[in-house]
Amino acid sequence: MNEAQRTAPVVYPRERHSISRANISPNALKVLYRLHHAGYQACLVGGGVRDLLLGREPKDFDVATDARPEEVRRLFRNSRLIGRRFRLVHVVFGREIVEVATFRGMPRDDGEGERVVDASGRIVRDNLFGTIEEDAWRRDFTVNALYYDISDFTVRDYVGGMEDLEAGRLRLIGEPRARFLEDPVRMLRAVRFAAKLGFRLDPGIEALLPEMAHLIGEVSPARLFDEVLKLFHGGCALETFELLRRFDLFRYLFPLTEAILAEEEAGFPRMLVARALANTDARVQAGKPVTPAFLYAALLWEPMRRRMPPLDGKGMSEIQAIQVAGTRVVTEQVRHTAIPRRFSLAMREIWALQPRFARRTPRQVRALLGHPRFRAAYDFLLLRAEAGEVPADLAQWWTELQALPPEGQAAMVQALGETEGKRRRRRRRRRRSAAQE
Ligand code: ATP
Ligand code: MG
Repeated sequence: MNEAQRTAPVVYPRERHSISRANISPNALKVLYRLHHAGYQACLVGGGVRDLLLGREPKDFDVATDARPEEVRRLFRNSRLIGRRFRLVHVVFGREIVEVATFRGMPRDDGEGERVVDASGRIVRDNLFGTIEEDAWRRDFTVNALYYDISDFTVRDYVGGMEDLEAGRLRLIGEPRARFLEDPVRMLRAVRFAAKLGFRLDPGIEALLPEMAHLIGEVSPARLFDEVLKLFHGGCALETFELLRRFDLFRYLFPLTEAILAEEEAGFPRMLVARALANTDARVQAGKPVTPAFLYAALLWEPMRRRMPPLDGKGMSEIQAIQVAGTRVVTEQVRHTAIPRRFSLAMREIWALQPRFARRTPRQVRALLGHPRFRAAYDFLLLRAEAGEVPADLAQWWTELQALPPEGQAAMVQALGETEGKRRRRRRRRRRSAAQE
C-alpha cells in the first residue's frame, strides 16, 4: 500500500455491515456515547469490531478516541489511568472493563507525546498521539484495525481489513519484518488469532516466524506471562500449542518443556500436555474457571520430574524430592515467562500431593480429601492416568470415592483397609510358608 491509499478509507455505511448496537455491551455503548456527546471522536476498534463482523461474541470491547487519557479520565468517575509504555484509561463497570485508548500517531515536529524506540527498532514506549488514520496504521493486523464509528454507525477501513476478514486472512499492516522487530509479541498474536479465528496466516508471516522467533527471548517475562494466558486460556489452547511448536515459537516460552517434547514425540509428556490443553479448552468452552497453576503444573511436570534428586535411600522422600525439583524448575522457568508466586506455590502443591494418592491408608485418605488443593491435585492425577502414567484403577478409585457422601466415603476407605489388611495377612502367610519350605 502506498501513501495515497493511506488517506482514503473505505467507509461501510450501516446497511453494508453486520454490526448492530444490540450486540455491543451496554457499558461500551455508554462510553462511546459519552465521549461522542462531549465532542470527541469515539469508535469501537480491535477485537470487538472484528469478532462482531465475524458473528462471534467479543471477549471485550476496546474504544479508540481523540480524547487524551486525562480527558477521558475526567469524563468517567469510574475510570483509572493505566500503563506507562502505553497509557490508557480503564472505565470500570463492576467486572467489565472498557479500555479506552487515545489515537496514536506518527512522529511530528511539534514534539507532543512521545515514542521511544531502542537501537534494534523495538518500541519501548508509545504515547505519541495522532489521528484515526495514523492510529489504524500502527495497529498489528488489518482485521484488527477496523473502526465502528458511533457518530454515524459506519465501519471505517483504512488498511483493507474488511477484504482480509472476508477472505479469512491474517495480514500484518506494513512491512512484516519491521513490524515483528518493533514488537516481537506480534508473532504470538499472529498464532493466537490464526488458531482462534481459523484464519490463514499470510505466507509472508509464515516464513518469518521461525526466523524471528528468537526475538521472543528478549521480551520481558512479565509480559510473556500475560501472553501465555491469552494463548492458553482463550479456548483454543491445543491448536495454538501445535502452531507455536510448528513455527518454533514454543521453545522461547517454555524451553524446558520443549527440550523434552523434542526428544520424545509420542510419549507420556506430549500426551499429558496435549490432554491438559484439551481439558482447559473444554473448561473454557463450558464457562468453567481455569487457573494458571494447573496449566503450568502440566507444562512443567516432566521438566520437574527430570530434576528430582535420586531417591537413593539418603532419607529423602519422594515429596521432598518434588519440592527440591520444583524450586529448580521455577527458578529456570521464570527467566523466560514469569509465574506470579501465588500460582507457582499452587502448582508446586499440586505436584507435591501426587505421591499421596498412592498411599491409601484411612488416615492419609482423610487428610488428602480435606486438603484445600485436593480438587486441583485430583484433576492432575486424572490427567496422569489418561496419559498412562499412573494405573487407571487408582484414578478410578478416587473418582468413585469423592462422588460419595461422607458416610459412603468412610465405608470405602474402611473396605480398602480390610482388603489391604487381607492382602498383608496373605503376604505374611505366603512368606511364612515359603520360609518353611
Ligand atoms: P482479543 O479478542 O484477544 O481481545 P484483540 O484484537 O482485541 O483480541 P487486544 O490485545 O485486546 O486484542 O488489543 C486490542 C487492539 O489493539 C488490537 O485489535 C490491535 O488493533 C491493537 N493491538 C494490541 N496489541 C498490539 C500490538 N502488540 N501491536 C499493535 N497493535 C496492537
Ligand atoms: Mg480486545
